[in-house]
Amino acid sequence: MTDNPAFVLRNIEDVVFEERPIQEPKEGEVLVAVKKTGICGSDVHYLLHGGIGDFIVKSPMVLGHESAGLVAKVGPGINHLKVGDRVAMEPGATCRKCEYCKCGRYELCPDIAFAATPPYDGTLQRYYRIPADLAYPIPDNMSLEDGALMEPLSVAVHAVHILGGLRACQSIMVFGCGPVGLLCMAVAKSFGASRIVGIDIINSRLEFAKQYAATDTFMPPEVQEGEASIAYSRRSADEMKRQLKIAGRGAGAIDLVIDASGAPSSIQTAIYVVKPGGTFVQVGAAKSPVEIDITTLVVKEITYKGSFRYGPGDYPLAISLVSQGRIDLKPLVTHRYAFTEAISAFKSTKTGKGDDGKIVIKAIISGPDAP
Ligand SMILES: [Zn+2]
Ligand SMILES: [Zn+2]
Repeated sequence: MTDNPAFVLRNIEDVVFEERPIQEPKEGEVLVAVKKTGICGSDVHYLLHGGIGDFIVKSPMVLGHESAGLVAKVGPGINHLKVGDRVAMEPGATCRKCEYCKCGRYELCPDIAFAATPPYDGTLQRYYRIPADLAYPIPDNMSLEDGALMEPLSVAVHAVHILGGLRACQSIMVFGCGPVGLLCMAVAKSFGASRIVGIDIINSRLEFAKQYAATDTFMPPEVQEGEASIAYSRRSADEMKRQLKIAGRGAGAIDLVIDASGAPSSIQTAIYVVKPGGTFVQVGAAKSPVEIDITTLVVKEITYKGSFRYGPGDYPLAISLVSQGRIDLKPLVTHRYAFTEAISAFKSTKTGKGDDGKIVIKAIISGPDAP
């Protein structure tokens, strides 16, 4: 093995291709030749702002965390993987010893080393070293692009299935029709949801959602002049219920709401739309603290949960949903870039439009050697 080119964030909007040393897989680890990497909002956020919340990029960091590739080298003690195996890579290595790791919520491990979260390097390099149990073999009927998308799909599995507890014949509403929102709808569909309502403020995204997995879509009304945000959200919820014939309770009510938008008005509206006793899962981080109607939350006994990444069993379930044909990821990959064009993938993800003028759902960057 010779060189290991990497796509490195040095500072805000300052990225460069750099040679990085090839890591030697240790006991229980494998080295993966990264072939496909999806770009998501968090990657773009690091590029534009140099951090997310408390995670600040202080020294140069390799970007990328949604990846799949081929096993290039196995460390000592690995029997279940061999060179050439196609694997989806779960990008968070946990300590395996703390109370969260041991109780099955390893996404809360305080010592998690997560790809492209400072100070840890990401996967946009020729080779990436990973604990072998986080390199999941993917079946022949799945592509390496599918493998890369196991990362955002696991986010959706975690939010909808694990935390949302969605069951067959229940109804779900998803705020935000970006990749994570669409994947939440796809998971809901695969679980036999009776109704899947997609909400967004961009019409082309609503159209995409309707073709992909939503049974209904809704675009919130415009804010009126001088209208306070809570009053607006209440009006938006009323309008939505009327137009889509959503009941307050019983048959026709919304069992589960997912916010994958982070918009304050979505979060406020969700409280008014979900049925009493229903569940509200927050999967997109909000830009700032959000004012919500706590009294409504209380009298409706709404369960409001934060959802962060994914935990035990989420990757295997995501792989199984796709390999069984219950979820089709191909329509989501709208744009593809060579490794050397990485910056274009970030640009198009940021603007939501490719150079071809088409709406970007998911942009994928190939590894340095991949076609
Ligand atoms: Zn991501
Ligand atoms: Zn831990």
